[in-house]
Amino acid sequence: MSQTVVIATRNRHKLAELSELMPGLEIDFKTLDDFPGAPEVIEDGATLEENAAKKARSAAFFCGLWALADDTGLHVDALGGAPGVYSARYAGPGCSYAENNIKLLAELGDLPAEKRTARFCCVMSLCSPGGSLITVEGRLEGSIAFSASGENGFGYDPLFIVAGSGKTLAELTSAGKNSIIHRSDAVKKMRPYLARLSGG
Ligand code: IMP
Repeated sequence: MSQTVVIATRNRHKLAELSELMPGLEIDFKTLDDFPGAPEVIEDGATLEENAAKKARSAAFFCGLWALADDTGLHVDALGGAPGVYSARYAGPGCSYAENNIKLLAELGDLPAEKRTARFCCVMSLCSPGGSLITVEGRLEGSIAFSASGENGFGYDPLFIVAGSGKTLAELTSAGKNSIIHRSDAVKKMRPYLARLSGG
């Protein structure tokens, strides 16, 4: 019998991405759109862990099912880990990806390449209907470029140079990006727990 797991999002793209990254699991993934009245969660945690846990718990309790949630941030060493948990709204509430990128370049100024190290972190939490949490973290190491390059992807992709590749995430194909990114790393680490749920 397949197990239902709610992904704590209304983004159908995340559902497609996760289903693609977890082939072979007997899991029927749903999203919050399948549960009318599910509460909106305000992502006001001080850390990625807090936000992922809050979203997973809220969905698990409302739906009475296992629930999966993630929260991602870009941590830049020279900025003390910023933008971190504020990555989506670094340049202010409702800002665009381009505005975030402009702010990031301005904050780093002409700091030399070797001091522009950064990483993407994706924290993923799986919550049982009773409230027990399993949390994993996926990472991608890299550095921040001096200007944007590449047309693919979204967010900070045009500025994020993947360690050892010399290319930004926006210069990779989507298959190339998906095979290395923080979210795939988190999914790989979460997969054994989901496999146990699905009896696989
Ligand atoms: P979320 O938690 O997945 O919504 O990610 C928060 C923010 O981090 C997004 O609004 C983007 O600015 C940034 N971000 C997350 N994942 C990526 C990625 O794969 N590439 C570039 N930026 C990302």
